[in-house]
Amino acid sequence: METLRLKDNKEGITAAAEILKADGIVAMPTETVYGLAASAYSNTAIAKVFSAKGRPQDNPLIVHISDMEMLSSVVGEFPATAKVLAQKFWPGPLTMVLPKGEKIASSVSAGLSTVAVRMPSNPVARELIRVGGLPLAAPSANLSGSPSPTSYHHVITDLDGRINAVIMSGECEVGLESTVVSLAATPPRLLRPGFITAEQLKEVIPNLVIDKAVLEELQKGEKAASPGMMYKHYSPKTEVFLVEAEKAEFISFVNSNENCAAICFSEEKDKIKVPVLTLGEEDSAEAQAKNLFGLLRESDNLKVKTVYVHAPKKDGVGLAVYNRLIRAAGFKVIKL
Ligand code: AMP
Ligand code: MG
Repeated sequence: METLRLKDNKEGITAAAEILKADGIVAMPTETVYGLAASAYSNTAIAKVFSAKGRPQDNPLIVHISDMEMLSSVVGEFPATAKVLAQKFWPGPLTMVLPKGEKIASSVSAGLSTVAVRMPSNPVARELIRVGGLPLAAPSANLSGSPSPTSYHHVITDLDGRINAVIMSGECEVGLESTVVSLAATPPRLLRPGFITAEQLKEVIPNLVIDKAVLEELQKGEKAASPGMMYKHYSPKTEVFLVEAEKAEFISFVNSNENCAAICFSEEKDKIKVPVLTLGEEDSAEAQAKNLFGLLRESDNLKVKTVYVHAPKKDGVGLAVYNRLIRAAGFKVIKL
């Protein structure tokens, strides 16, 4: 199929909304990453999303809403804690898992009784949802397994000819997928870290549990609270290793290796003698989050066998950067 290139203006958004109402699939910008949107009411449309991405059928999707009125058609219940979180963090990069509403297509939540929902802050995404009058299920607009798309160019690289249209808008501000918290679990559980940090959530939910799969590989037979966490993810073609080390150790380690590249902190760049990409300053997890997926894609252009990534700190937004990197590395961590 031909993938239409649409502008992020009124005309483009109207055209995109018409495609979505006819059960088509459209890549849209959000503040986290580009999403591949489809009507959350339509099993037909959702099947196209899974097929275009090559996404495993048991990995449920996040539903995006434009306002609080739309919420009642998505969830079956909206408990008090969810209200407080919505007031504090919506619109924004926080997804809540709640009991599913009846109108939502069963394939959106892969047959589970719960649904993941968020209200994005990106004005183009919100306007598209509002104009279409549909809650939109939208996973990241990449081929399943590859790094998530933070620009429309990444979407075109992965999905040109596989989707009906892409809205050409700016680069994503956050650069990592939303934080996912389950309020259907007791006590509430952080399933995926993101720009809204565990520390911020704990101010509202002091008994929040961080799911084991955030930082560890699940063993065969262990059940995932969030099905998406079972899969290898975010990976370029080049083999990735995560390296936990002090700055001087990291520099001498990569300099003594052959046929490799480094993804390092800005402070280390000048001392590294192999091809190098810069994640951001060590203390700026927000910058690292924004750069990460683009750099993983760029690492394939360096034509090396291996890329060593200096592991960031595991607090605040750093926990989200670390969570994506350890998956990109297929859980291969070198501790120096
Ligand atoms: P993506 O759409 O690629 O950003 O991935 C969505 C993430 O949310 C995946 O890790 C899913 O497993 C998770 N998710 C979506 N719906 C649910 C749900 N109902 N219960 C638990 N996790 C969910
Ligand atoms: Mg994804």
